[in-house]
Amino acid sequence: MKKTILVIHTGGTISMQEDKKTGNVLPRQKNPLTEAEKILNQYANIITEEPFQLPSPHITTKEMYELKLLIEEKLKEHSMIEGVVITHGTDTLEETAYFLDLTVQTSIPIVFTGAMRSSNEIGADGLYNLISSIKVASCEEAKDKGVLVVLNDEIHAAKNVTKTHTSNVSTFQSPQYGPIGIVTKRAVLFHHTPVSREHYPILDISPKIGLLKIHSGMDSSLFYALKDLRYDGVVIEALGQGNVPPATVPGIKSLVEAGIPVVLVSRCFNGIAEDVYAYEGGGKQLKDLGVIFSNGLNGQKARIKLLIALSITKDVQKIEEMFQL
Ligand code: ASP
Repeated sequence: MKKTILVIHTGGTISMQEDKKTGNVLPRQKNPLTEAEKILNQYANIITEEPFQLPSPHITTKEMYELKLLIEEKLKEHSMIEGVVITHGTDTLEETAYFLDLTVQTSIPIVFTGAMRSSNEIGADGLYNLISSIKVASCEEAKDKGVLVVLNDEIHAAKNVTKTHTSNVSTFQSPQYGPIGIVTKRAVLFHHTPVSREHYPILDISPKIGLLKIHSGMDSSLFYALKDLRYDGVVIEALGQGNVPPATVPGIKSLVEAGIPVVLVSRCFNGIAEDVYAYEGGGKQLKDLGVIFSNGLNGQKARIKLLIALSITKDVQKIEEMFQL
């Protein structure tokens, strides 16, 4: 029997069209996906919502929060909804997906999808990805796996997935972990289950969190600037195992001393940052200063998590515990 799936369109290339003369890709007045409903209804009974139509670089925490509330409201309103699919621009898709993974408490599947080619381009992948996502959202096995990201026949966990290529349709990858399932011509097959799930309430989306990538020869000026600009938290993408140039240490120290939580991830996209090196600027020194080491998240996701953490508590110890999960 066909299930009832809530499809929420938010914009992105999947909802855009290419101008044949200039090659520019732009949103148009009417979302081409809403015109495909007849096709989608072959796979599920579709309820459609379109709260906004934005390129994903325009998405902020405000829209992420709006999506969370919309899903909760629709699930209350229609008890027959058994899955949710969200179409989203691919640039920041992983951030919105992780935000909902951490803040929406439901066992039904929530699946994000997008496209690398707009709706009228040759080889457009949008409608195909949307149909795959509806199939995944309709699948019993997709329950209780947290927010999923489905593109290019692969199913990824929101926590691990990242956009790895500017234009290739196989852009979404989960470095170190791989996809947790695949979509074949006839089936949806899972081969992994995420071992843990986290859920937090979020009441305040105002915390300002900065994200800085460490580079060779970097100094403390940007860290002092974030402090002067009264940022509430800072994520740093450190080098390798979790180290920084010595000249950045005074700036990092000043943030920690001002009570501003500093979370450290590695700019390597595989592995986990740890306090191994004891030289100046090494992870050991940073940990002793009070820097919080994250458990394998990338910078943009650690930023989302720190925002959620700071909306619940200012206690650095508690925030550190959250980053251990
Ligand atoms: N720039 C586009 C966006 O994120 C890319 C995409 O959707 O694929 O909105």
